[in-house]
Amino acid sequence: MGGAGGEGPEAAAAHPCPGSRRPQAGRRSLEHHPLPGSAADQLFPGRQRCGPSTSCGFYHDMALRGNRCGTSVDLCKGPHLRHTGQIGVLKLLTEEYARRGFSEVRTPTLFSTKLWEQSGHWEHYSEDMFILQPPEADGPTDCQSDYSTSQRRDRLALKPMNCPAHCLIFAHRPRSWRELPLRLADFGALHRTEASGNLGGLTRLRRFQQDDAHIFCAPDQLETEIRGCLDFLHSVYTVLGFSFHLGLSTRPSSFLGEVHLWDQAEQILQKALNEFGKPWELNPGDGAFYGPKIDVHIQDALGRPHQCGTIQLDFQLPLRFDLQYMGQAGVLERPVLIHRAVLGSVERMLGVLAENYGGKWPLWLSPLQAMVIPVGAEQEGYAQEVQEALLAAGLVGDLDKDPSVTLGRRVRRAQLSQYNFQLVVGPREQSQRTVNIRARDGRQLGERAVAEVVGRLRELQAARVRNAEEMF
Ligand SMILES: [Zn+2]
Repeated sequence: MGGAGGEGPEAAAAHPCPGSRRPQAGRRSLEHHPLPGSAADQLFPGRQRCGPSTSCGFYHDMALRGNRCGTSVDLCKGPHLRHTGQIGVLKLLTEEYARRGFSEVRTPTLFSTKLWEQSGHWEHYSEDMFILQPPEADGPTDCQSDYSTSQRRDRLALKPMNCPAHCLIFAHRPRSWRELPLRLADFGALHRTEASGNLGGLTRLRRFQQDDAHIFCAPDQLETEIRGCLDFLHSVYTVLGFSFHLGLSTRPSSFLGEVHLWDQAEQILQKALNEFGKPWELNPGDGAFYGPKIDVHIQDALGRPHQCGTIQLDFQLPLRFDLQYMGQAGVLERPVLIHRAVLGSVERMLGVLAENYGGKWPLWLSPLQAMVIPVGAEQEGYAQEVQEALLAAGLVGDLDKDPSVTLGRRVRRAQLSQYNFQLVVGPREQSQRTVNIRARDGRQLGERAVAEVVGRLRELQAARVRNAEEMF
């Protein structure tokens, strides 16, 4: 599940269920603020001036003889944690999941098309899916197995969304009301067809991730869960520095399910929105046919809107997968499903963040946190020790000991590359076990003990502050 409205992966993500295919006509023309150029351009615009994106950029669009695959490769210099390879934004989500009782699951990328028939995606969404034919489908082989011909010819598809797989997880054994709400989160790779001409940077890819989660709950838990979803959005967007506003989309003219269920659900959503206290607008008739939804529009530092997160109720998938749990009264009951995403497409969010920060990543997301610069060759050994202290503390520390470049130019180079901090070490710092620290805006922060600098950087990183340079 992902963002709503618009088009591309996010738009498709907003329609997880049967009959929800993206509108074909004009579906590409709704992008309000397309992000320019390649993925590398987006993530690190300054670097484009000093070399090709493949060596200096962060993410490289896979290409073969000019034909783009619509996937991206992390060149290990993106806004991620170098030591784990995990994108910093995802770590933020992972921590929130642990705090909020979500279980992270990993579901297969490849499923039989039978799954998509059951979920309804096959009927309405198959043209947006990559379909694969297993080798046996070419015809019977000499070695006859127990499989029938029809089974051998079963087609496979790359998953365009996680919901059906999560329904399988719910359904794989009897469930009790005691297990609800069951909150499943999945960062699994999703694949959706996109015409190559429509691929663009990180904005529109054929392979992407979402901070996708599905909550299976009892009807009387709905209100609490929606409140929890709104609070989740608020926490993450606050850290990222986005303001946002919300919209409630209600029952469309063509809908499935019972009217009283819809009315009840819409009232619950409305109540949760009112209690949340942020202004929201009503979009009558804009809900998906399977349930009402809350769309989230974020606004970046330049005031530009982006549609990313979404919270959607779904009465239909639990029916299609015949999901049931044993209720408190000893009677089987049907859970309600909530699809929700905060970031939507993670890749697209990285592009939005890159534009939002203009290449000046906050320390906690920065791939270039600190550059250690020895004044002369005599301090190289000490500079290396400082670098190791940074690395040992889980910080990103690089070393620039290029003897062919003057000290002033190396400092300038680190500043232009947007290293949050430069740590200069000369003879005095070496003898005192200190560093001379300056911020990327050129401000001198003075001489500090190495342990003090490392400790302070760790604190600022853990607090995910946006202005570590000022707060140091
Ligand atoms: Zn979903």
